[in-house]
Amino acid sequence: MIPLCDLSQQYLSLQDEIDAALRQVAASGQYILGPHVNALEQEIAELCDCQYAVGVGNGTDALQLVLRALEIGPGDEVITTPFTFVATTEAIGLVGAKPVFVDIDPHTYNIDPSAIEAAITSRTKAILPVHLYGQPCDMVPLVELANRYHLALVEDCAQAIGARYLERAVGSFGVAGCFSFFPSKNLGCMGDGGMITTNDRSLYERVEMLRRHGGKVKYHHSELGLNSRLDEIQAALLRVKLKHLDAWNTRRRAIAYRYNELLADADVVLPNELDASGYEVPLGEEARQNALLIPVYHQYTLQVERRDEVAQALRERGVQSFPYYPVPLHLQEVHAQLGHRPGDIPVAEHVARHCLSLPMFPELTDRQQQHVADALLAVTANRQLVHAAAA
Ligand SMILES: *Cc1c(COP(=O)(O)O)cnc(C)c1O
Repeated sequence: MIPLCDLSQQYLSLQDEIDAALRQVAASGQYILGPHVNALEQEIAELCDCQYAVGVGNGTDALQLVLRALEIGPGDEVITTPFTFVATTEAIGLVGAKPVFVDIDPHTYNIDPSAIEAAITSRTKAILPVHLYGQPCDMVPLVELANRYHLALVEDCAQAIGARYLERAVGSFGVAGCFSFFPSKNLGCMGDGGMITTNDRSLYERVEMLRRHGGKVKYHHSELGLNSRLDEIQAALLRVKLKHLDAWNTRRRAIAYRYNELLADADVVLPNELDASGYEVPLGEEARQNALLIPVYHQYTLQVERRDEVAQALRERGVQSFPYYPVPLHLQEVHAQLGHRPGDIPVAEHVARHCLSLPMFPELTDRQQQHVADALLAVTANRQLVHAAAA
């Protein structure tokens, strides 16, 4: 079976270096907030064009800590996308605020900036875009809206570490960027881990305090915090892997472009090829020509009719695939109290019914990829024959 993602191969390719790093931490006796966490924070801050970074327990806590630090809570609304992993709105709910869903752009799968303004109320405190699948959101209109309405812009970068837009890294556009090192993310550790990036010194100081029980000085606590720190052993591992992130992300893009070519004639909707053109940014022609959009393809996700049958047929041909994400968040039981009905957010619902992610990891070989593409072409061609026979 060709898997969606293969984590053991990455470990084996760096085994000696990783084992040495893990052993070094084990022998050091320093396991919480030590030199590797400090160094990784600096390295991630630099990667993300930010002055500060704070290692935390996971990506969900990164979001929650930022919202807490911004004093977003009961009675407040946060505008976000319904087409994301549940952690995005979980964090909003955990601080007591209400997620307000705005539909997505059918080409990027990301929040549709042109639909946001209509969702802003007097209770809106923040916009929380998600750079889904490693595809940067169109940040120019988002920054403009946040500035115009005095809203905090918090970026969910869990799937997009290293992605860039207009020559800047994701995580540097809003007041904070929130990253996850969950094992299957583009930069993954051997457990849970996360990071907050920011250029705002007071936010930095606030989340740095909140991540360790809300105290500036040990055993002196000014407010209720969390116990949410990045482990030293995970930071040491991540520092080994970080040196390879750029090459891995480049390989992911190459795989995505080859999928686009191999599947050009398949009966599917390919992820939109945005890199070549960039977004239609309102900055004048010259700026537009220099516009750079560098996605990092955490997932390669296309849309296909009768998705579940296609996934089953792929499995029979030795190819794993998965619908990320089959149920949009406004229709999840956890958000039932918001009172949404099917049909409320049509583009997200359509994409949730049709999306299918294919194997995507840097170690995927050309042969494996050819097999995936051949299988999908065969499966979708057969299906056309079935349609023709039925008609
Ligand atoms: C993975 C993920 C998170 C949460 O990260 P964890 O480290 O698993 O808590 C948040 N948002 C998105 C979009 C994610 O993919």
